[in-house]
Amino acid sequence: MATDYDTPRKTDDDVDQDSLEELKARRSDKTASAVDEFDAAEGLELPGADLSNEELAVRVLPKQADEFTCMSCFLVHHRSQLAREKNGQPICRDCD
Ligand SMILES: [Zn+2]
Repeated sequence: MATDYDTPRKTDDDVDQDSLEELKARRSDKTASAVDEFDAAEGLELPGADLSNEELAVRVLPKQADEFTCMSCFLVHHRSQLAREKNGQPICRDCD
């Protein structure tokens, strides 16, 4: 009787060990792919930083003559988006 209990238990242990080995293998696979993704992201980071710098430079530039800054949302809109003026301050259509 005792051996009957031991045999299935041993088999369970074997299965657990096997799945553990599988988990370890999968984990190392994931780590490897994660490192690859990180490297790829790092490679993309440089052009991305350059783009953000360009965006910043564009924002620093004074607004164009055909643009206005809404006094309500403080966003720069094209003149076609000008709804009205309030106390001499432009209001965009979104805020009107
Ligand atoms: Zn607005």
